[in-house]
Amino acid sequence: MIIDVPADSPYGTENLPYGVFSTPGSPARVGVRLADRVIDLAAALDDAVFAAASLNPFMAQGRRSWEETRARITELVAGDVPDAAVHSVAQVTMHLPFEVADYVDFYASEHHATNLGKLFRPDSEPLMPNWKHLPVGYHGRAGTVVNSGTPIVRPSGQRKAPGESAPGFGPSKRLDIEAELGFVVGTGSDLGAPVPVAEFAEHVFGAVLVNDWSARDLQAWEYVPLGPFLGKSFATSISPWVVPLPALENARVPTPRQIPEPLPYLRETEPWGLDVEFSVRWNGAEVSRPPYREMYWSPAQMLAHLTVNGATCRTGDLFASGTISGPAREQRGAFIELTWGGADPVLVNGAERTFLEDGDEITLTASAPTASGRLGFGELSNRILPAR
Ligand code: MN
Repeated sequence: MIIDVPADSPYGTENLPYGVFSTPGSPARVGVRLADRVIDLAAALDDAVFAAASLNPFMAQGRRSWEETRARITELVAGDVPDAAVHSVAQVTMHLPFEVADYVDFYASEHHATNLGKLFRPDSEPLMPNWKHLPVGYHGRAGTVVNSGTPIVRPSGQRKAPGESAPGFGPSKRLDIEAELGFVVGTGSDLGAPVPVAEFAEHVFGAVLVNDWSARDLQAWEYVPLGPFLGKSFATSISPWVVPLPALENARVPTPRQIPEPLPYLRETEPWGLDVEFSVRWNGAEVSRPPYREMYWSPAQMLAHLTVNGATCRTGDLFASGTISGPAREQRGAFIELTWGGADPVLVNGAERTFLEDGDEITLTASAPTASGRLGFGELSNRILPAR
């Protein structure tokens, strides 16, 4: 069939994101999205690498194979696609698109880091002395990276409010989101061999939306001195479609000016800032529009930093940007910032809200410019369930 693509579709021929889908009675396999259709690539391209239930085998083939495949798909969809390979997006189930190897989360927004510094450490300088010299990050938990649609069970743990003399235990009362962009490593690196900023596109396959769910009360009590742990590790969700790096070519912008100049291994050779506009919806109501172009550190700098000590990256590694926040209140990508620690509620469908309640649903979407319009990232939506 000829697939009809409306001119304003966020899933036009300049996007072509990859995901893993299944249809009733058939195993999960790799597909590519065009308009409101999913094309079964194992069937359409007659290539068994796409019969896998994850993108990892294809991603491991490397950049040349990614480029050849994208060219073949572009040619395929310009003509008659075999009917048996085409499914309606409404009739498929989407799965986690890749097997997550390691997961790292950065902290690359100066606005977010400054706001969190003021909220967590009101009596000291908001930015730590290292912040403008290196992309600060922590190792997260790969095994709890989940797909859009997976319910998020409210975590329980230790928490101690500033006025309390001893910690107590119970469900988090300050459950929050972090709207982020995540980068998926396709080609790994060798132990001991750093990945230079200039080789970013050799290793990174594409990008997904990330929600780094955060229990602020657990986090505030546990984070000194080794950083986030159980306040973050209970769940991180990602969008079902991986937008290939070449689809973002028209979204590339320089990062904000970096002063002081970073050390040589972090100097950008070409711009990898990205003009991606996010939208955060809380029970359907938009409460924030975080701008990714404001991020201080680029993803190429993040990858260079995370491998500069010789640590490897592997096929399926996910590294996320950290919360995206712009300078304006309505551009903040976490509710702790948006409501200033709960002191300044936001209106959600007419009600004053601060942190997440059971039953709440959070949806992240994002778009980026292409040569002819805008592309969309897949919707990332999860609902909060009561603590167990
Ligand atoms: Mn985060």
